[in-house]
Amino acid sequence: MECALTIAGSDPTGGAGLQADLQVFRHFGVHGAGVITALTVQDSGSVHRVLPSFPSVVLEQLRVLLKDFTPSAIKLGMLATDDVALNVELGLRELENSRISGGRPAARVPIVVDPVLAASDGTALLERRAWARLQDLIGRATLVTPNLPEAQALTDCDVSTEEGVQAAATALVSHYGAEAALIKGGHAAGPPRDLLATRQGGTVTYDWFEGHRMDVGSVHGTGCALAAAVTALLARGDSLPEAVGTARTFVRDSISRSEDYGKRARFLVY
Ligand code: PLP
Repeated sequence: MECALTIAGSDPTGGAGLQADLQVFRHFGVHGAGVITALTVQDSGSVHRVLPSFPSVVLEQLRVLLKDFTPSAIKLGMLATDDVALNVELGLRELENSRISGGRPAARVPIVVDPVLAASDGTALLERRAWARLQDLIGRATLVTPNLPEAQALTDCDVSTEEGVQAAATALVSHYGAEAALIKGGHAAGPPRDLLATRQGGTVTYDWFEGHRMDVGSVHGTGCALAAAVTALLARGDSLPEAVGTARTFVRDSISRSEDYGKRARFLVY
């Protein structure tokens, strides 16, 4: 069994964050390791409080864990504060520096960055002064998976038009340095369309994925589940386009089977 690592916030409802990531990893037959960046107090409708982890403990956990084994893929989710994000970055840098074989760096571990800024109820899940650090981390990403508001906030592009979404994707891959960006269109009115932009050398290719809106109401944790599914599939050796295609189908099917375990949002069933 391959192993994937999630570095994410804890969601006691199990619908989002690290708890969801581990369930998705297991769904795809991948062992899940997890480092918690923050505790949250939340129910199915809103986040009541965020308690960031001690930044030094996040780094210590990463050091101890990554000396012991190398995950086949890593997912970053909620990072809470600039200090936590900095220590995550240090941990990833140490992993990269340690992976030298025969004097040459070994193949990089795929990293999926879900650039979580806020919960659906508007509560900030990353402090504003940490956005620059998140942009740095996006530079290490194999794939970054913003929704439309996140893409707009991080790139300053107006994403209300198709050209604007394409400009935001271009900024994420060409300016910030991600290998690929998947901008999720679920927040727009009408049928959701996602854009996958992939950089190869100096060329960027764009693929639009058509979706259809399901009338099921608010579903908790879809963004976390999508990024976790891509991470698990990359850990298993899928190519990026394969992983994105399978992960989108997985989330769509999980929404169609969703259940209302809580009172204020539905939960994915997979
Ligand atoms: N809690 C944690 C720990 C998260 O990482 C996220 C989203 O990434 C959420 C809550 C918010 O989920 P939603 O946007 O479905 O409210």
